[in-house]
Amino acid sequence: MAINDKWGKVYEELGAKPVINATGSVTLLGGSTPVKEVREAMELADSSYVLLAELEQYAGDRISELLSVPAAYITSGAGSALTLASAAFMTGDSDENIEKLPDTEGMPNEILIQKRQRYWYDRCMEFSGARLVEVGNENNTSVVDFEKMISEKTAAIHVPVYEQKPTDENVLSLETIIDLAKKHNIPISVDSAGQIYPLENLGKYVRMGADFQCVAAKYMGAPHSTGFALGTKEIISRIAKNSFVGYETNRIRGIGRPHKIDRQEIVGVVTAVERWMTLNHEDRLANFEYMTNNIIKDIDKKNGIITQKIDNVIGHQPFGLYIDIDENVSNINPQILVEKLKQSSPSIWTRIEEGDSKICIMVFGLELGQEKIVSQAINEIMKENLR
Ligand SMILES: *Cc1c(COP(=O)(O)O)cnc(C)c1O
Repeated sequence: MAINDKWGKVYEELGAKPVINATGSVTLLGGSTPVKEVREAMELADSSYVLLAELEQYAGDRISELLSVPAAYITSGAGSALTLASAAFMTGDSDENIEKLPDTEGMPNEILIQKRQRYWYDRCMEFSGARLVEVGNENNTSVVDFEKMISEKTAAIHVPVYEQKPTDENVLSLETIIDLAKKHNIPISVDSAGQIYPLENLGKYVRMGADFQCVAAKYMGAPHSTGFALGTKEIISRIAKNSFVGYETNRIRGIGRPHKIDRQEIVGVVTAVERWMTLNHEDRLANFEYMTNNIIKDIDKKNGIITQKIDNVIGHQPFGLYIDIDENVSNINPQILVEKLKQSSPSIWTRIEEGDSKICIMVFGLELGQEKIVSQAINEIMKENLR
């Protein structure tokens, strides 16, 4: 059912406007809708209380087995995993250090990152008290640039990976970073939050030699507020000590205390990972491609719309399309169309990616059938704005 009487009602009753999400998994709209298997498992988890330290241990063991890495830890999102890992790189096993953060005096507190790789979520690392230190410049980074910056203050080197995007030849590859870091005995941190497909990428960076990689469970049918860390036994045990579970279990007051996660969510994440590893991904992808093709087919090209199909299947958001407008035919430009779609009823969210001029439509957040509402709304707006 694409939209029925109950659609969005609970939000409307509060005064908030429900949204058809044609923009993908974005936190500003709520990020994910947990799948049925996950919701059912979470409901079963209501039945009793459980010692969270024990649950985290067994849940982490299960995930680490499924993903062929030494250890795993469930967190309140990939962002939390980044903060806790940064803390873990600095504190080591020292309870005293854990209680001292975010004051990092006496600890290595610099996380090196290539200047060209600065990104939206790197801020999550600084919440631990760590300092991000840029290496290289806007154009490139060399091994020598790194060697100049590495010192006893270096806590880790951080690398975000986006395998769905074209390779940036002007940054050092993860392989090069791993070699370099190993040579200097520095931990390697990888943000692979969106690298959930192909399946081998779940844990791949740890198997390549990274100490830590994070994954956002929001992309695989778990609650938006969940994620996990994968890594060596050493770093995962330090993440556990810095976490809210460590705070209550060990009575060591670390910075992880506000990063709480429910026992239901922990069970939900395990269920989501189990499902993901056994899911028929060809069917999953076919479903996204089907909705994409429907939008392209149903958009009336006479109104000045130019569509371009996205055929990427790597990472968290397969398929989708770009939309451009022929301004010889239409009075409106892509920015205005995005606004008009937001204001239409029901409200439809699409977006123009930073530095781009085309509208990007993602089908990740659409229920089957909602894609028809999107193409109809576009047709109606465009028909009213012909030159
Ligand atoms: C979503 C995302 C994050 C943050 O993950 P949360 O689970 O929302 O905290 C970090 N890095 C990347 C690349 C992401 O896509």
